[in-house]
Amino acid sequence: MRLRHTLIPTLRDDPSDAETASHRFMARAGLIRQLASGVYTYLPLGYRVLRNVERIIREEMEKAGAVELLLPALHPAELWQESGRWDVYGDELMRLKDRNGRPFALGATHEEAITSLVRDEVKSYKKLPLTLYQIQTKFRDERRPRYGLLRGREFLMKDAYSFDASQEGLDQSYTRMYDAYTAIFTRCGLKFRAIEADSGAIGGSDTHEFMALSDIGEDTIVHCGQCDYAANLELAESVGSVNAKADAGGVAADKAEPGATAPAAFGAGQIVETPNCRTIAQLTRFFGVGPERIVKSIALLIDGRPVVALVRGDRELNETKIKRMLGATSAELMSEQDITDKLGSVAGFIGPVNLPSDIPIMADEEIRGMRQAIVGANAADRHLVDVDADRDFRINLYGDLRTATAGDRCTRCGGELRFDKGIEVGHVFKLGTKYSEAMRATYLDDSGKSNPYIMGCYGIGVSRLLAAIVEQHHNDAGIVWPAEITPYRVHLIVIQTNNTVQMELAEKLYRDLQNAGCDVLYDDRDDRAGAKFADADLIGLPLRVTVGKRAAEGIVECKRRSEAESFELAADRLTDFVRSM
Ligand code: ATP
Ligand code: MG
Repeated sequence: MRLRHTLIPTLRDDPSDAETASHRFMARAGLIRQLASGVYTYLPLGYRVLRNVERIIREEMEKAGAVELLLPALHPAELWQESGRWDVYGDELMRLKDRNGRPFALGATHEEAITSLVRDEVKSYKKLPLTLYQIQTKFRDERRPRYGLLRGREFLMKDAYSFDASQEGLDQSYTRMYDAYTAIFTRCGLKFRAIEADSGAIGGSDTHEFMALSDIGEDTIVHCGQCDYAANLELAESVGSVNAKADAGGVAADKAEPGATAPAAFGAGQIVETPNCRTIAQLTRFFGVGPERIVKSIALLIDGRPVVALVRGDRELNETKIKRMLGATSAELMSEQDITDKLGSVAGFIGPVNLPSDIPIMADEEIRGMRQAIVGANAADRHLVDVDADRDFRINLYGDLRTATAGDRCTRCGGELRFDKGIEVGHVFKLGTKYSEAMRATYLDDSGKSNPYIMGCYGIGVSRLLAAIVEQHHNDAGIVWPAEITPYRVHLIVIQTNNTVQMELAEKLYRDLQNAGCDVLYDDRDDRAGAKFADADLIGLPLRVTVGKRAAEGIVECKRRSEAESFELAADRLTDFVRSM
């Protein structure tokens, strides 16, 4: 392709709204243009990359036995009402009405559409297992569309859905998709990890997220430096490191700030006036102790029921873990009013001593055996000191309730946990019968009995994947495309367009390379050499070939995008060289 015949509008400057390297370079190299917030055009170069990624996905999906179809993007509301998601999906679902006032949604995901199809068309166990997939535009009215293609409101997704007659069947379909994802991301040149993720219900590793490693990622990957344990931060298990454990020891009177009134006897603990000390930071200053000596008491409504959860002052409560432990679907912080009404306490001063007996108290494992701790006194501006867990307050349930943190150790092998940022590029999920039951989608088994399909769903953010690849493959000058997805293989530049020898050689090489089946982007624009080189770096094709002053001797200059040094090559050897790359 001649550069001047296509549309590759490169930009010298960064777009003002581009905060990430991928967004900057994809805009500057002329791959994408924004039409509205979170809505992008794929320009010819971007679209070529997209098609390469799609090709890899299709090849691996077909290898895994999945079959492609294309579902509609426009969904009647009844479809989403059947599954119950019309009411719970919220503002992310783009809703609209037709001319008769009939409600519709633009597909944010396609569990409903596929379940409805399979329910009508697949009635017998003989047709199972079946895995169907599509590559299609999705619409989600994201609260914060950003980082270019990373979080769009209109974006491309590959979504696959498996239908099985047994749990073992689902396990196999899931493993096949998991392996296909591993192959896809590897071929895309991505550094990634598959991690255990939260399935929103109790259960083990029935969902994995595929994370491209990147500092701009919104997710935190916790992985062991010693074994292959890896999980999303929201459910990563950990044990505290030995040296971080709280030491026993009373509140040193000499460290306490002046103004603390003399403790009055109160059960086993002592009550201390702590005016306006609501936060852990304020308390550590007031008492002159480390945060690990303080018990953080958090009042929650779990599926609407009040619960008080305890973690050490230097830890963060993890609501996902609590939900999983209790098999609950929602966990929210209690309002100040509820804290007064339901707990008889005061926001900012909640503590586990003398809470109403019908309020369950859950505690993180680190609270077990804690001595001479500081806790809220359930009264304004009051805390209790020298409180011992189990002696001075009851705990109904111990568990791993806190978010893993630096210095923690792996629960599997004791190795040190590491924390990395990641971009979620794919997600595999065992749905079970969630949708088939809600939508009464059943098949007949070999004894003529009807059963709901056992389903899995598997997504890849195809457009997000492009951004993740660029995020990992660039340098200061621009993109450095991995071999399998580069939009063209060779960037051919002729330096002087008014020099007949150079032009003739360049034209010949352009023809030869194309005849050899090599995709070439040919820059024969009448422009400064510097500008052409800058564009070549920005666009990032694997090999740049320059026809310049040694054209008369039949010599061209070659430079790999991934290397700093260029080298000379006899022009008649170029095709063979490119073939061998
Ligand atoms: P996220 O947590 O990033 O919002 P999600 O959990 O909503 O993702 P899924 O519903 O599992 O995502 O969708 C499958 C895949 O689609 C994700 O793994 C991700 O790669 C991609 N994806 C999701 N939302 C977007 C978006 N707004 N823009 C681009 N890709 C997206
Ligand atoms: Mg989302």
